[in-house]
Amino acid sequence: MKAVVFAGKDRVSLEDVRRPHPGPGEAVIRITTTTICGTDLHIIRGEYPVRPGLVLGHEPVGTIEELGLGLEGLYEPGQRVIVGAITPCGQCFYCLNGVHSQCRGALGGWRFGNTINGAWAEYLLVPDARANLAPIPAGLDDEDVLLCPDVFSTGLSGAESGNIKVGDAVAVFAQGPIGLCATLGSKLKGASLIIGIDANGERLEVARRFGANVTLNIKDGDPVPEIKRLTEGRGVDVAIEALGRQETFEAALRSLRPGGTLSSLGVYSGKLVAPYEAIYAGLADQKIVTTLCPGGKERMRRLMAMVANRRVDLSPLVTHRFSFEAIDEAVDLFGSQRDGVLKVALHPALPKRSLEAVPAGAGVEEIC
Ligand SMILES: [Zn+2]
Ligand SMILES: [Zn+2]
Repeated sequence: MKAVVFAGKDRVSLEDVRRPHPGPGEAVIRITTTTICGTDLHIIRGEYPVRPGLVLGHEPVGTIEELGLGLEGLYEPGQRVIVGAITPCGQCFYCLNGVHSQCRGALGGWRFGNTINGAWAEYLLVPDARANLAPIPAGLDDEDVLLCPDVFSTGLSGAESGNIKVGDAVAVFAQGPIGLCATLGSKLKGASLIIGIDANGERLEVARRFGANVTLNIKDGDPVPEIKRLTEGRGVDVAIEALGRQETFEAALRSLRPGGTLSSLGVYSGKLVAPYEAIYAGLADQKIVTTLCPGGKERMRRLMAMVANRRVDLSPLVTHRFSFEAIDEAVDLFGSQRDGVLKVALHPALPKRSLEAVPAGAGVEEIC
């Protein structure tokens, strides 16, 4: 089968690799659509280590091709499914303690394109299929649910882990796909004031459609004084960090009121510093929580129910489409943030060149 593999720092290549077959409790799905994540860029740039030759990608949409023993009567070949980026086993110490993303140990729930072959392939082996295959509701197409495996689940979890209450003031630092879904999640959780922050004006426009009432461009200056001004000098109840840099972590901390929660989604490298005055010498009853994308079939069912019932429309985030054969072009565009790109759909079966680009948010007045 064709698959896109990590070929060493700054290189991916489309190769012929052995098609997987399922063992007991496993399934193989035929990929119909997948996408590129910021985490894939970290891997390609050599900032997060995976073994060369590994098939990348962790956001699968497809149809069931083959089922291993033990799944009789639960699923049928030909069923359309998604699988979360995180594939918990449902049985280990961590799963049974409710932290499914840390299945079997730190970050252990993240297997696709990390420790086992991922979704940038014609076929994908799904481990612990009974806990992870989530049927797509009738009437939804691939791109309607493409962002459920990771981006929507992760962004929304930033709002959930922040424990946003009705009427809260929230600041969301960075409005990439994850930050936009954190903005959307803040609206779903009932925040009254949602402040979206980014350096990209186009993304701030999309942020308004996703629920931000105020947007601040960091090119216009430090957002923290303005956030304080908008919250009667206190700071926000919840600040969500969706980038993974010292500057945004620190700005999120500085924008937080005493007793508030910093909900962190970013992937950091190096040392993270909390300045003395921003953390009030460690005495201000603040909470800092981190979250790895929630996965598993029940999480996916809930997210797809939000799409199916039109509580959210994630399709404006899919701005470009490519075939596997145009993977270099797709990675380059996604990494550069050019041309209004937010997320790119990857299809195994498209013709060689990229298809049409769709402007971000085209034809969408309000998301939910
Ligand atoms: Zn991801
Ligand atoms: Zn587990």
